[in-house]
Amino acid sequence: MKSETGKKKVAPSTNDPLQFVKGVGPKRALLLKKLGLETIDDALRFLPFRYEDLSRVKKVSELIPGEHVTLVGTISNTGTTSLGIRKKVFEVIVQDESGFTRAKWFQFNKKYMDKKFPVGNFIILSGKPVVNRYAGSGLEFVHPDAESFADEFPGEESIGQIFPVYHSTEGLPIKALRNIMKNIIDVYQERIEEFLPVTILKKYHLPSRAQALAKTHFPLKETDIEELENFKTAEQQRLIFEELFLIQLGLTFKRNLRKKETFGKAMATRGPLIRKFIKLLPFALTGAQKRSLGEIMDNLEENFPMNRLLQGDVGSGKTVVALTALLTAVDNGRQGAMMAPTELLSEQHYSSLLPYCQKLGVSIELATSAGTAKARREIREKIESGTAQIIVGTHALIQDKVNFKDLGLIVVDEQHRFGVLQREAIGKKGNQPHALIMTATPIPRSLSLTLYGDFSVSYLDELPSGRQPIKTQIFYEKTREKAYTLLYKEIQKGGQAYIVCPLIDESEKSSLKAVVETLAFIKMKYPDLSAELIHGKMKREDRQKIMSDFQEGTIQVLVATTVIEVGIDVPNASVIMIEHSERFGLSQLHQLRGRVGRGQRASHCLLVAYYPLTEEGKARLNAMKEFSDGFSIAEEDLKIRGPGDFLGARQSGMPFLRMANLLRDFEWIEIARNEARQIIENDPGLNAPDLQKLKKALGHYLGDKLDLINVI
Ligand code: ADP
Ligand code: MG
Repeated sequence: MKSETGKKKVAPSTNDPLQFVKGVGPKRALLLKKLGLETIDDALRFLPFRYEDLSRVKKVSELIPGEHVTLVGTISNTGTTSLGIRKKVFEVIVQDESGFTRAKWFQFNKKYMDKKFPVGNFIILSGKPVVNRYAGSGLEFVHPDAESFADEFPGEESIGQIFPVYHSTEGLPIKALRNIMKNIIDVYQERIEEFLPVTILKKYHLPSRAQALAKTHFPLKETDIEELENFKTAEQQRLIFEELFLIQLGLTFKRNLRKKETFGKAMATRGPLIRKFIKLLPFALTGAQKRSLGEIMDNLEENFPMNRLLQGDVGSGKTVVALTALLTAVDNGRQGAMMAPTELLSEQHYSSLLPYCQKLGVSIELATSAGTAKARREIREKIESGTAQIIVGTHALIQDKVNFKDLGLIVVDEQHRFGVLQREAIGKKGNQPHALIMTATPIPRSLSLTLYGDFSVSYLDELPSGRQPIKTQIFYEKTREKAYTLLYKEIQKGGQAYIVCPLIDESEKSSLKAVVETLAFIKMKYPDLSAELIHGKMKREDRQKIMSDFQEGTIQVLVATTVIEVGIDVPNASVIMIEHSERFGLSQLHQLRGRVGRGQRASHCLLVAYYPLTEEGKARLNAMKEFSDGFSIAEEDLKIRGPGDFLGARQSGMPFLRMANLLRDFEWIEIARNEARQIIENDPGLNAPDLQKLKKALGHYLGDKLDLINVI
């Protein structure tokens, strides 16, 4: 803090803005804000994702094959070498006072590498050197961790230390960020307050919060680097526990409040509508569908609201299960609602459920935010009077204006697109409805414990019989023509195709342009094909017309934005071509691929990618090629992105995990859960004097995320 003479000196607090930290200033404050950091406390909780270990610095002459080391030197040369057709390697020659060695990258973007490793710069490499059998020229590093610096870093005096590496942002060099962090720790360490109960700290041998934060940012040089890299130091463990414990405490606190007022209504299951409906289906239910329905029915028969997650890969047949559950509500004289994340998907659900409902004499309505005010009001009235028995819609369904006559069950399709907290809003609708949440994103058990607390889970782990595998191929700009040929051939054989264009620069406008241009291109290239486009901003009637034409096969190629990502079900579609596939997330790619392979046709997923490709982008495409089931895809996703991002945590309204890894830290989850439960059991309002700091921390970190503001 600046302490100017004449002004009253205020004691530093962790709520201070970052701007006045030594080394920050207004320009850097903006860059830090980009990283989500505005206060000292934000910065303290912005932890390194790895470390530079200068405690094990070796010279080139001391390298031993297979031994993990760090090397400090200068870049004496760089360049690319060809390894046959289309295969290239980027090499950096590193020099120190004892000799030369080489670092190699096989997957790279030349421009990026040239910028990252200018000749003459200082460089820090860490990794395990290996013998190069072919060149016979000593040891080299393949894909090491590497950073380069224009001026000398870390400086002679720093050899022997361990340095944090942060995810920084452009314009804020890592070295600068590191210095800022150092200044913060120096000034504020003493101000970091403990909020965990002492009994817990003692029981699990956890260090204080101040120590944990200080040493996780700047570990002592004696720290075991293996432990550090595996997040196993006592300090890191403390921060992991703290994070998980607060989440569990918040969820338990909330659940406890809800329990007092929660009482659902039991329903009779397997009624007349259900029996008729099952007979109408053109197929037999799979074993997994039957088992899941059994589990759902058991819940519906209880007078406690069901909280069930139905997890099934794309195409596993979740919709039929949902409709059966909805009809159970109708059999009991109550209403059933199905909520989907997009207008398009709710329209699709509506049109696929409609024929069944008509045959069963059940009234079904579509409630979205599209349509005239008058039409929307009429639908609301039908919902209020109970004339509408099944209601399909978007989140418009849980808006305040909509009052159900007697909502018995709500199904939420493709939950990964919804906020976990929207579940809270559902609970407020009507008479504590039963809730069935459906998702294609597999959620490891440890995650579901954290995110969903006491949700029970049913798995659709079996695809309907007769499904053909989907062949996934990657194409680049030069080979793109081949992808088109394949697409055209498939259509000649009677199939249909989607071509997906990505959202560019987050702007709907530019992605529309891409769709329009692609459509024009297809029409010119294949005048004999009937092609159309679809996007989210179209009028509902136009969109419905196009979808039904595509469903019937009069449209052969549908050029689309990502509006078709979830749920769309056209069994005859057998090709999906994804343009700029390198820009999509892995689970999004998997969802998109799930639009094909839903019928009896062998299907193709054509991923078209463009350079420059990031390592991650490449890893995602390869994962798509290698894995076809959602579970492996999710595991790969977790590996590539890390768990913080896994469920699109920000988007789904979940507190963002900074430290904990829900797979790695599974044991802490159970402990955190138990400790949180015990505290709430003894003191549901967290009113004891020695819990006040904890309560404050809970409000501070999770207040708005868990909607605790009014209750804490
Ligand atoms: P998702 O789980 O991705 O939501 P859907 O419910 O859309 O899957 O089902 C995909 C397709 O499989 C639909 O065309 C549906 O009619 C069909 N289907 C569902 N269950 C079965 C079954 N038991 N046998 C054959 N086809 C089925
Ligand atoms: Mg679906």
